[in-house]
Amino acid sequence: EHRDGDQPEFLQAVREVFESLEPVVSKHPEYEANGVLERLVEPERVVKFRVAWTDDQGGIQVNRGYRVQFNSAIGPYKGGLRFHPTVTESVVKFLGFEQILKNSLTGLPMGGGKGGSDFNPKGRSDAEVMRFCQAFMTELQRHIGQFTDVPAGDINVGGREIGYLFGQYKRLRDEYSGVLTGKDMTFGGSLARTEATGYGLCYYTQEALKALRQDSFQGKTVAISGSGNVAIFATEKAQQLGAEVVTASDSNGYIHDPNGIDLDILKDIKLGHRGRIKEYADRVDGAEYHEGCEGVWTVPCDIALPCATQNEIDQESARTLVANGCTVVCEGANMPSTPEAIAVYQDHGVLYGPAKAANAGGVAVSGLEMSQNSLRLQWTFDEVDQRLKDIMADIFQKSYAASKEYGTPGDLMLGANVAGFTKVADAMVAQGVL
Ligand code: NDP
Repeated sequence: EHRDGDQPEFLQAVREVFESLEPVVSKHPEYEANGVLERLVEPERVVKFRVAWTDDQGGIQVNRGYRVQFNSAIGPYKGGLRFHPTVTESVVKFLGFEQILKNSLTGLPMGGGKGGSDFNPKGRSDAEVMRFCQAFMTELQRHIGQFTDVPAGDINVGGREIGYLFGQYKRLRDEYSGVLTGKDMTFGGSLARTEATGYGLCYYTQEALKALRQDSFQGKTVAISGSGNVAIFATEKAQQLGAEVVTASDSNGYIHDPNGIDLDILKDIKLGHRGRIKEYADRVDGAEYHEGCEGVWTVPCDIALPCATQNEIDQESARTLVANGCTVVCEGANMPSTPEAIAVYQDHGVLYGPAKAANAGGVAVSGLEMSQNSLRLQWTFDEVDQRLKDIMADIFQKSYAASKEYGTPGDLMLGANVAGFTKVADAMVAQGVL
């Protein structure tokens, strides 16, 4: 703690995991003897760099870039890039730390990493975003590679940005390889990658509902926050599974549509022209817009799927959700619930699916994209979707089994932490102290 006292998000993520691991470490003295926990919290490498680029007016802009290569015990570093003004070393380290256990849970051979920049793409032209991405990759390229570190997208890094980043890597390295995932279908992308995190979140939730409640999405009212990649495809799958999704949000505010979100209109606004969520209420009769994104959790629902950002549900929002009858919270975003919110879920018997399990579908399909690139093949949408379903069901089953083994059946947070950790810890012990 003294070493990283100025990194609150990172400490928050580590504390949660370490509490879950206490019973595991006491059962496995070899982890302690090998210093596994001390090594696990220290990234193998953190790269911090200048990103200088020219805006459309000819002005010089300087941002800060990051890549944290956290743990490579079970595979090459893997994890997304986030472009957002709130990106700091602490945020990148919390995301990278979570990614180690998440990637392990998928069962695929991927280590943990994460990166990004404090660059704010809002209001920037296409040409500015391209120049930023090229400048960012000009430095990042020396640290990554198909066998060492394979970045993907995250907040504000979607297909457009991955394309510009890939193009610059190819230009500088004269190499055509699967160095990034989330690529367009014309240059090595995987079908179902765009949908994977949102769809996977619903597959995981469905599995948990079935096993723990003998229930399903059918007829349920669902509140979803965000309106980006994860939120849109979580909405699509929840609707396909028979639920009514009644909210969406962005950083300015939220909409409540009691008749159920019209997904074509939401997609047109967000994917069609990068518009604001407010526009939805202007276009759909009966939908209301409210300023302030936290208000989304005051809308009564049976199931809440936070899909925007970290710490978006605090204690008060969690209490409001429970008071309004919400009994399931599964996380599409990374660490969207504060520790106090998680305590509220636990006190009220809420079925809580933590991010590192519930949103692992994105990185799982990224892993499948890497496999397809290596094979120089492209699987069909249904093939990838089926593998995604199997992986999400397996993540739930592994977490549930671990929760039973350690005496708290149904504590899926403990289960995910333990199940993800064990594989990485065993690999670290087997590979010696390094
Ligand atoms: P997008 O950039 O596509 O969408 C992000 C959404 O969240 C936007 O609606 C955005 O609103 C909102 N948002 C972002 N920051 C804030 C904030 N500080 N306060 C309120 N709202 C905010 O990103 P993704 O959908 O890809 O990512 C969403 C979450 O899911 C993140 O936590 C990410 O780490 C996680 N995740 C993503 C995966 C993926 O495959 N993409 C995989 C696993 C997890 P606005 O437009 O106003 O900024």
